[in-house]
Amino acid sequence: MTDRYYSESPLLGETALLAGPEAHHLIHVMRAKPGSRVVLFDGSGAEFPARVERVDRGEVELALLSRDEIDRELPLELTLAVALPKGDRQKWLVQKAVELGVGRIVPLRTAHSVSQPGAQAVARLRRAVIEASKQCGRNRLMEIAGPQSWTDLVAGTPAVPCRILAHPGCRADAAQPSTRANPLTGAQLPDTVVLAVGPEGGFTAEEVALATAAGWQTLHLGPRTLRIETAAVLLASMVVGQTFPA
Ligand code: SAH
Repeated sequence: MTDRYYSESPLLGETALLAGPEAHHLIHVMRAKPGSRVVLFDGSGAEFPARVERVDRGEVELALLSRDEIDRELPLELTLAVALPKGDRQKWLVQKAVELGVGRIVPLRTAHSVSQPGAQAVARLRRAVIEASKQCGRNRLMEIAGPQSWTDLVAGTPAVPCRILAHPGCRADAAQPSTRANPLTGAQLPDTVVLAVGPEGGFTAEEVALATAAGWQTLHLGPRTLRIETAAVLLASMVVGQTFPA
């Protein structure tokens, strides 16, 4: 894939001006010169083959050659609600979610959550979304929603046809045993799916009960305790795999 660059401002006219980290990358890493070809995207769903016209200090002017509507999104709206892990693992999770086609990440506040991303961390995560979209070819940016409590998320999603919560444990004596089967297998694909992954301390029994009472399915992901980000990638992949044509 040709090198892709993200424009913060909507690409509407015949030229574009890149500044900031995108211009820096073009000038200093890619050593772009007038005449170099790249692809721009602005998150609107299209991409724009472009030619470098002028390179200045910290600024690159490009001519937009066409506007190509190229859809690399999933055929369903996928939300991943997750009690975010810390530091680099958080960034890794965001990167993989973008690659898998997740539409929105909702940072979850639960009884056992430890950290919430502050404004600075959210800005870093948005940058990670842009970097991953450049790499994987998505022309729409995954949204990083504001943090939500588990209660609000459950209360706010009653009409979503498919809501799945990862929770270990299939014990027959469990009050709410988790299912082992992929709830999407064989089913007609719903248009919206909401997935939830808990913190390292897990969801509490009350949190699980709240969700199942509201119609969520709990899903067991095997006998090993997965890290938050592993569980999130596995769960999202189970949905993504169902969207492939038979
Ligand atoms: N000790 C915790 C483990 C938490 S792991 C507990 O017993 O719940 C962090 C999150 O990843 C969990 O809340 C769950 O959403 C998901 N997860 C990890 N391993 C899992 C498994 N084997 N099955 C289902 N969900 C799992």
